[in-house]
Amino acid sequence: MGSFKSIVFMVLMFSALFGARVTPDHWKKGQTFSDYLNDRNISLDVLQSISKTDIIFLSEIQGGQLFYELINQNGILEQALIPIGEEMQIRLAKDRENGKYQFDIIPIVYEEGEYSATVTIEKNLHTDIATALNNRSVADKMGQLFKGTVNAKKFKKGDKVSFIYTQKTRMGQPYYRPSIKIAMYESKGKRQFIYADEDGYGYKSDKKSQAYTVTGKKKVTYTRRVPVSKKDSRFGMPLRHVRVTSSFSYRRWHPILKRYRPHHGTDFGARRGTPLLAVNAGKVSFSGWMRGYGKVVKIKHAGGYESLYAHQSRTRVKKGQRVKKGQIIGYVGSTGRSTGPHLHFGLKKNGRWINPMRVLRKKSIKTSILKKFTKYEDVKTTKYKKVVIKDAKANREKLLNYLKQERKPFVWDCNRQTSMRVEDGPQTQAL
Ligand SMILES: [Zn+2]
Repeated sequence: MGSFKSIVFMVLMFSALFGARVTPDHWKKGQTFSDYLNDRNISLDVLQSISKTDIIFLSEIQGGQLFYELINQNGILEQALIPIGEEMQIRLAKDRENGKYQFDIIPIVYEEGEYSATVTIEKNLHTDIATALNNRSVADKMGQLFKGTVNAKKFKKGDKVSFIYTQKTRMGQPYYRPSIKIAMYESKGKRQFIYADEDGYGYKSDKKSQAYTVTGKKKVTYTRRVPVSKKDSRFGMPLRHVRVTSSFSYRRWHPILKRYRPHHGTDFGARRGTPLLAVNAGKVSFSGWMRGYGKVVKIKHAGGYESLYAHQSRTRVKKGQRVKKGQIIGYVGSTGRSTGPHLHFGLKKNGRWINPMRVLRKKSIKTSILKKFTKYEDVKTTKYKKVVIKDAKANREKLLNYLKQERKPFVWDCNRQTSMRVEDGPQTQAL
């Protein structure tokens, strides 16, 4: 009799789920998590169930972020999966037993693949790659690679571009931007390899440092990678005495919760009232209260960087104010969700959280930038600083092997699975 009951229950469960669909959507700019709950007619009671350590992540959902909803045939939300950063996501799931919504933070399941492609130039580099692979992001990244290295505008019809790239995928769809490993440009039997650094910029040589010389008296207009000025390139520490108590991590194991949680910053131990210093010159983009973070100052810097100083006892700068590097911008405290006085320091690069210590520890961060020049005078030699090109030799071999095989490139199907049938209960659906 017991088993009969469970069969009936299973049938009910599947029939209830039949027609439920996973639908992708984009998080509206400026929309708060409460706004979202209101939109979906979900009681704000769920906010009460969110732990102190998790509440902070609600403010880290980015505008425009792609997220997934599982909606049943009655239009009721069964589950929502909302990424916070690259590795973790918020899961809001309706409990079948009591109909209440459960909040949780779980790892994002994605795959990462390596792809090779050869594209023959018909119109131009961007259009041809975007068309051949049905993936604009790969074309964008290839444009970035060639910029300042090889003039892609001079490519002629029939020239070939071969390259290796990696792409994360989620439910068969490209997830986050691809990363170009190496490329080769071929024209009239002549081959030129372009090596990619960690940031996806291209270099003609795989040597660790590069130099170039430009001479002449005529008007010269050109784009070159030049070292950035020392003033902008050096990030200082946010405290005079540095003691790291917790490091940046996409997945930090929480010993009490026994779960993985992202930690989008570095924690520094310090006494209440210790002065906080601007890590670099910039403009204050926020000064005030931010849930979870308590009293916060955010500063925008050159090069797409933004620093964040959380849990302050007192802030000392106003929004819009310009600050110098090393200037006192506030004091250590324990406001917001904090267990004791410390500085939670966050650093964003182009809108994404990065490990601050990667930048703070180094003497110079961005060693070079692309700059346009128009000059009439002689231009002296400019040295490129450290260029890190990983696995240049191995990638070159791989690309040459691919060329021998003459395989067709993988074509992305970006329209596939805009909605999909659910095979499993929403509680166990892994996305
Ligand atoms: Zn922290």
